[in-house]
Amino acid sequence: MTGSTASQPGLAWLPQANRLSPWDQVRVTVAGLGRSGFAAADALLERGAQVTVVDAVDSDANRDKATLLETLGASVRLGPETTDELPAATDLVVVSPGWRPTQPLLAQAARQGLPLWGEIELAWRFQQPDRIVPWLAVTGTNGKTTTVGLLASILSAAGLTTAAVGNVGRPVMETVLDEVDYDVLAVELSSFQLHWLDQAHFHSAACLNLAPDHLEWYADAADWDQLGWPSRSPLAAYQADKARIYWQTEVACVFNQADPVTRTMVEQADVVEGARAIGFTTGIPGPSMVGVVDDQIVDRAFIAQRQTSALPVAAVSDVRPAAPHNVENALAATALARAFGVPGPAVATGLKQFQLGPHRIEPVLDAGGISFVDDSKATNPHAATAALASFDSVVWIAGGQAKGTTFDDLVSQFADRLRAVVVFGVDRQTVAEAVQRHAPNVPLRVIDSSQTETMRQVVATAADLARPGDTVLLAPGCASLDMFTDYAARGDAFTAAAKAWAAQRSVEEEPR
Ligand code: ADP
Repeated sequence: MTGSTASQPGLAWLPQANRLSPWDQVRVTVAGLGRSGFAAADALLERGAQVTVVDAVDSDANRDKATLLETLGASVRLGPETTDELPAATDLVVVSPGWRPTQPLLAQAARQGLPLWGEIELAWRFQQPDRIVPWLAVTGTNGKTTTVGLLASILSAAGLTTAAVGNVGRPVMETVLDEVDYDVLAVELSSFQLHWLDQAHFHSAACLNLAPDHLEWYADAADWDQLGWPSRSPLAAYQADKARIYWQTEVACVFNQADPVTRTMVEQADVVEGARAIGFTTGIPGPSMVGVVDDQIVDRAFIAQRQTSALPVAAVSDVRPAAPHNVENALAATALARAFGVPGPAVATGLKQFQLGPHRIEPVLDAGGISFVDDSKATNPHAATAALASFDSVVWIAGGQAKGTTFDDLVSQFADRLRAVVVFGVDRQTVAEAVQRHAPNVPLRVIDSSQTETMRQVVATAADLARPGDTVLLAPGCASLDMFTDYAARGDAFTAAAKAWAAQRSVEEEPR
């Protein structure tokens, strides 16, 4: 919350606090004992702050972490009731990204005018003043992890010491405090993490795309005015948090030429004087853009002669797979790397060396002329759209938790590529109804069970509907938590089921 004031007299400096501030005077409540909450609490304790940690989950794992933090001097409270009320003596709240702003403890803090920061904000302030490392930041509804990985790969290929951090794996706080002398960080930021920023700002930043997602987190954004934020619709609040990435950007605001909302975000951003707007496009780029000409990725932004020429920096085939959405990710990473001054050849090397993470349009099996592809990471319709655009004839497997999103646009766009659709999971009817409305002739199977073995039934149904040359594509467009621990478990279940189907099929085909 920009402009918050600390309630304790004598702490007027707190809104401007940095690593060297007298933290022993500050009483901090850390809301949430996940990985980032733990890292924040640990760092605060080391600087002498009085730390209280609360978490609704009283599990073995949390108790272990609590014991560790208590040894360092923290007070830890676990259990559902502990998150309802703000601990009495609190000057600052450090919020975990999963917590919604209207959660009672946070609402109480907001009403008192206390600063509420996420672990990212705290990490930004905890950098060594004599060793400030530039951050290249990435957000967007989809492609963040991939883009940050591509970016880190390019930066490493240029000989720079870097790490991919933030929403991907390692908390930024751990990176800021370790002994490595980083040249630059590639930071993935979710909308929730952006929401809890205050002063943090970046060398360069990119918003890759914007489509409805996580609207349940923003469901009551219309009531936020009572907490000090503007009252907005859920989608507008989500968009505003994404747009925060460009605030006070120093060098380049990278946006997606094909997604006008991202351009608007840049146009409306309050940036440092001289920061440039840089578009990326899978088409031919204009000046101040990065794009594609004759199967080459070209830079027409960070060269002196950009009005008249473009510099080829890599081949599109260096991007693997060169699916359209993945080329967009590569272009965004290229733009950020070039904004940081990375030479052209390092871009090509970095793109080539990068391996796409698992469960992202991952081919897992070919059997009977049918390819099975795991895109379990498609947890919203926008990501599923990108996956469907990558294959010609698809038996599409979808469903799970729709998070308030709809599938009408997706189904109308791809009706002619769908051989069949199999839906499962808690919001299966949301997908099924979109198929019935926009692709009534496409065979549709609704799997009602939500047992552990359901995925076997889903995959067998899909495979039986497929013809040689088709792709059986798990791109659920929904979160997985109704049936699985996470998207990875869902993808693993898909692969296991595909293998089981193929094994069964070969037994049936064996000559007797
Ligand atoms: P995030 O970190 O934003 O969730 P990932 O790189 O993990 O992004 O990819 C998430 C999902 O979105 C995957 O299913 C992937 O295939 C799809 N995806 C990746 N990049 C894009 C993009 N630029 N546009 C649309 N979908 C994408």
